[in-house]
Amino acid sequence: MQGSSNLGLILSLLWCVLLVHGMPSFPRSVLDADDAMTYLQRFNHMGTPNMQTGQMMTEDDMVAAISSFQSMANITVTGKLNNETMDMMNMPRCGMPDNMGFSNAARRKRYAAMARWDVTDITWRINSYSTDLPEADINRIMADSLKLWSDVSGLTFTESTAADADFIIDFNTGAHGDGNPFDGPGSVLAHAYFPTTNPIGGDAHFDDDEGFTQNTDAGIDLFQVAAHEFGHSLGLGHSDDPNALMYAFYRGYIPNFVLPEDDINGIQYLYGENTGAADPTMRPFTVDPNSPCPGQLDTIARTGDGRTFAFIGNLVYQILNDGVATGYPQLISQVFADLPNDIDASFYWPGNGRTYFFKGAQYYRYSDTTPDAGYPLDISLWGLPADIDAAFVWSGNGRLYFVKGDQYYRYNTYTGRIDNGYPRPLSVWGLPVDSIDAAMQFSNSRTYFFAGDNYYRYNDASFEVDASYPRLTAYWWFGCGENNLEDEDDGTGGSLASCLPNTLALVMSLVIFAFFQHF
Ligand code: ZN
Repeated sequence: MQGSSNLGLILSLLWCVLLVHGMPSFPRSVLDADDAMTYLQRFNHMGTPNMQTGQMMTEDDMVAAISSFQSMANITVTGKLNNETMDMMNMPRCGMPDNMGFSNAARRKRYAAMARWDVTDITWRINSYSTDLPEADINRIMADSLKLWSDVSGLTFTESTAADADFIIDFNTGAHGDGNPFDGPGSVLAHAYFPTTNPIGGDAHFDDDEGFTQNTDAGIDLFQVAAHEFGHSLGLGHSDDPNALMYAFYRGYIPNFVLPEDDINGIQYLYGENTGAADPTMRPFTVDPNSPCPGQLDTIARTGDGRTFAFIGNLVYQILNDGVATGYPQLISQVFADLPNDIDASFYWPGNGRTYFFKGAQYYRYSDTTPDAGYPLDISLWGLPADIDAAFVWSGNGRLYFVKGDQYYRYNTYTGRIDNGYPRPLSVWGLPVDSIDAAMQFSNSRTYFFAGDNYYRYNDASFEVDASYPRLTAYWWFGCGENNLEDEDDGTGGSLASCLPNTLALVMSLVIFAFFQHF
């Protein structure tokens, strides 16, 4: 152990040398304060834009954004756009956002576990090649960079020719169909997608304008970039440990690279250690009812007294901002009298302060945790089919929605019916999930979707999932990691509205209002 940390020290010293002396010069794209602001927004260092008020970016916001970047980049935190900061912004780097909602000041420098696969045998396929290197060499570099991660974890990787392999690897230039265009030589080198049930989850894209190389200080070392991107494909965000592979910035070619300790800790948090007895059918994170760190929810509900409860099987957990309340989980029957186990869906209706629960062909109504008389009633009264998956009051417009399979329904509280034209395909929402377990408008007025072990926060302004989601439900909602919902609350979804003049923001609000009519 002592030996490996010495080696880590030697390697990190070597990296410093490389950073100072060994790096070739790269094209500079951040030249002035406007460029810097675009950069800080792009990589999620900006604070909380507010679509409703069209609030302008203040000087304090700028200082906070620059400080956030400086802290993540591990350079002197001044809050000012000095030369060191501009130089760092011009370093080649990964295209994934940096700030994953952590409050940097309070956080130790370490890995960020964001999401995970629920299988440990992962398939991969190279869909397109760069001409920078022979195909056989690219094949070997990809296999070697995956092996870095499988050597120290419970994961195995299998190369596949199947169209639906988990990780699909492409070399692209410019816009390439995923809404995240590459930027020519320098700056962004590659990006990759966190684990999701959407086909793009796990995929890694490399900017083929870079000039990828191997075993040399010249050009961009493909092995380093691929190993970093596969960390994202496996569910790790950017680490602010400057020695970590998952540090956002390119480190140059590193001979005899070994995976740094921070990255090993991160991958083992997600997938466990390499026990040498890999079982490809193993699903390490199926819900253990006795575990304090469950993943997949049946439903999550708020009650009129302001509490939040998560339901799994026959258990209920009261969720606080810093984890599960003392004394929980409890049997559902002990907290919510007469409520059955294995709930399908629920929602809190602010209009009457009641919480509704759905199971099979019936629904129940509660005042806080007390059952209202006269229930259960038949779900057909809502015009809904039995066995719905989720229900929620969308923060975007206050309307009530139900999800079943890959379709959703909008309920009209004035007519007492499902609106005409529903159900519609859930894909309209742009949610990267095809099987939602639960959904909820939380006390921060944001709508959350839960699927498998992961959850997503919806951006009502841009009609998509917020950047840096999905995240692990256990980690954030059940207090099973370093972070909790207090951190979750501090950064809301990114849009450019805060920088827009009020009139333009107003016009955009009207456009958005028009859009609501179609949801
Ligand atoms: Zn990255």
